[in-house]
Amino acid sequence: MKLTLVRHQYFKMHDPSPHYHPENPERLSRVERGLRAYNLLGSLDKARITPGNPMIYREVHDEAYLREILDEAEYAFGAFFIDPDTYMSPGTMNALEALAGSVNYALDVIDEASVIILGRPPGHHAGRSGVALGAPTQGFCLVNTVALLAYKLARRGRVLVVDFDVHHGNGTQEILGSLGKVKHVDIHQEYTTIYPWTGAPGLVGEGNLYNINLPPGSGDDVYLDALKLLAYAVEDHDPDYIVVSAGFDSYNGDNSFSNIKATSATFNTIGKMIASKVQRVVAFLEGGYGVGLERGVPAFIQGLLGKDDPVGENPTKTPPSLWSLYRERLKEVMEAHGINLKV
Ligand SMILES: [Zn+2]
Repeated sequence: MKLTLVRHQYFKMHDPSPHYHPENPERLSRVERGLRAYNLLGSLDKARITPGNPMIYREVHDEAYLREILDEAEYAFGAFFIDPDTYMSPGTMNALEALAGSVNYALDVIDEASVIILGRPPGHHAGRSGVALGAPTQGFCLVNTVALLAYKLARRGRVLVVDFDVHHGNGTQEILGSLGKVKHVDIHQEYTTIYPWTGAPGLVGEGNLYNINLPPGSGDDVYLDALKLLAYAVEDHDPDYIVVSAGFDSYNGDNSFSNIKATSATFNTIGKMIASKVQRVVAFLEGGYGVGLERGVPAFIQGLLGKDDPVGENPTKTPPSLWSLYRERLKEVMEAHGINLKV
């Protein structure tokens, strides 16, 4: 696979200082440190993007909502919160323009090269008008880049959205739910235990949705097992394009607000699995707040390139009691969708 890396200094200008917030510009520096450590930063192709007009997001967000946040961004003076989780700052407009430029770029080149967008703020919790599916907040997100890419690519062919952020992509589900053409596989921590408290398995009638729930405490073995359903979705839907919400907050020890113990093995396998079937992939950085950025991102990228896990941590194991919980949840998804897979 030919893979191009999108970075832009504007992505670092959305900045919570002087407040502390886990979603901060240092996240991208951690990604870069990780890529450098595994000799990927120099070797990957880099894109030169031109910042774009964030109004392109009106295809997936209500225009009134979009105008409101753009207005807030334009006149921001110091960082401020639009809800208890989500901030804006004087550099937010720059970051939104870089996001729009990344979308334009990805749509231009996708038929020749896959793209990984190392941008921020993340987007998969942003619904049509901000908060999605009754969540308490927008969860650090302002505009939904993956939903926009999927929406636009669905005009060109079959699209599969893969969201492996530890949190449910409620905004993406809300936006794409009515667009029957896009299949959405969302792997997240058991929805009753974590923000945004949505993402129940067994939902049908919401587009083509597999919500795969992993019990808190799940390790690589459970995660790798759950990927059987992702492989099934890829076979079944036979996508022309895969759009990825690439979150690394399920990495073992990444942060204090989630509890999945995946390591580099999982992220490398996901990358390989995707790239073995489809050559046109756009991945967008969602969550990941610590070690997941340094180790998960390189493992995933190498997987996309068909290469082995460069990090090579010992895979984590899941206690037997959690396996049965996991299997119950997976069966709910399979029963709802009439899938016959051995678990
Ligand atoms: Zn997340």
